[in-house]
Amino acid sequence: MPQYYYLVGDLSYLINKGEELLMSLINKVKNQYYRFPNWLLNLGASAYYKIPEKYRYGSVFTDTIEYIRKNEYSSKEEIEKLIDINFVNTVKHAYYHVPFYNKLYDEHGVDIESINGVKDICKLPFIDKDTIREHSSEMIADGTSQGEMIYVTTSGSSGNPAGFYQPDSITMEEWVYTVEIWGRIGYKPDPSRLVLRGKKLHPASGDKNFFYDPLRKELSCNIFDMRDETMAVYCSVIEQYKPEFIHGYMSAIIILAKYIERNNIVLKHQFKAILATSENVVEDQKNYVEKIFRARVFSFYGHSERLVIAGECEKCSDYHVEPLYGYCEILDKNGDEANEGEVVATGFLNNIMPLIRYKTGDIARWSADQNCSCGRFYRRIEKVIGRWHQDMLVNLNGAYVSLTALNIHSDEFDRVVRYKIVQYEKGYVDILLQVDKSFSNSDATNIKELLESKANGKIIFNVQIVEQIAILKNGKYSIIEQHIETK
Ligand SMILES: [Zn+2]
Repeated sequence: MPQYYYLVGDLSYLINKGEELLMSLINKVKNQYYRFPNWLLNLGASAYYKIPEKYRYGSVFTDTIEYIRKNEYSSKEEIEKLIDINFVNTVKHAYYHVPFYNKLYDEHGVDIESINGVKDICKLPFIDKDTIREHSSEMIADGTSQGEMIYVTTSGSSGNPAGFYQPDSITMEEWVYTVEIWGRIGYKPDPSRLVLRGKKLHPASGDKNFFYDPLRKELSCNIFDMRDETMAVYCSVIEQYKPEFIHGYMSAIIILAKYIERNNIVLKHQFKAILATSENVVEDQKNYVEKIFRARVFSFYGHSERLVIAGECEKCSDYHVEPLYGYCEILDKNGDEANEGEVVATGFLNNIMPLIRYKTGDIARWSADQNCSCGRFYRRIEKVIGRWHQDMLVNLNGAYVSLTALNIHSDEFDRVVRYKIVQYEKGYVDILLQVDKSFSNSDATNIKELLESKANGKIIFNVQIVEQIAILKNGKYSIIEQHIETK
């Protein structure tokens, strides 16, 4: 009956309109978050969690989850086929819609129609950060409007940062991948978390160094002020709020772990896992933190270019490369496939400024065993060895030594609050130590001897005790300040 159809039409119109209103209301609330008083956060929290995920996070969230889950346990052949489709689409889109690639591939004599899958990837030339610095304006796809892209810069600790463009949906897509990876150890959207990251505390925290936000279920503790007095409070609020996960920077988590160990504190609360983000996780630090908190440290490999993401597996300690996010190659200095070498990445999520065969500067190693008992046919990375500017030192012979190899968390470091390594000259390294009161001169001598023996005498360490090691404005802390151009 016509009226019936009218009614349905009107209803769906109203529902759509209602969805729009709801979305804009949620966005308004998010933007005004820091202005809300505490009572309103408490009141809002119970209503907020009644809103279905689709509206709380939007359709990019639900669509991406569906896409990942639909393919997660597909056969090896199906996964490879999907990778090929994504890869060919990305390359052709770049050639036909991005002036830079059109010119580059013509100059290299690439027959674009002969690219049928990743088996043809070796026909394509490499790009790197310098390419982006020089050509960024020609690397944007035609028809892109300002409103649909975001500007991102890489966070290299030395060298010039490079800036590039990404679709504004990519932040949410990446968040979904992250949440799905964490899901392997029991993370469901909106768990309660102890947050040890560099974000500012809500103004309602007043003069306290922590804040519990019922809306986000986050117990945030100030990582810029981690003293014994403040950490005693952090431990008591952990017992009070019982957050399921620790989410934060490894450097801050270690400081808390050391405080707990030093004071023989036994936390009654048991965390489900520790989600380490943003900083590269060093093996020994990971083992130490797992021992103190009796929970697994779970991390993933990713970068601000958002080309490859690889999260740890629940069945082993390797990282699985997410096949629908981007394609990962590990190549040696000659650009040939290798077991260990540089990560060269092709992203599938960015059609605004596609990056194809982008040399990341990160060094990683494939696992010898590519099968996994978890049932996913995702390639396995055994180890992300380091990043040129963040984790590598250069010895007297000019060889690279990764921070992991120095086993920096040994007993000698127990009385060290924080350390920083600075290198200007190959074979010579300054190690700055911020220490606690019980640190003695013999500790300094032991640390020097220990590190020099770990480096086979090929690096001379100059130990300096300093009052304070500054952390970056965003709360992150980079262990190595490398001034040698290592690439
Ligand atoms: Zn697995």
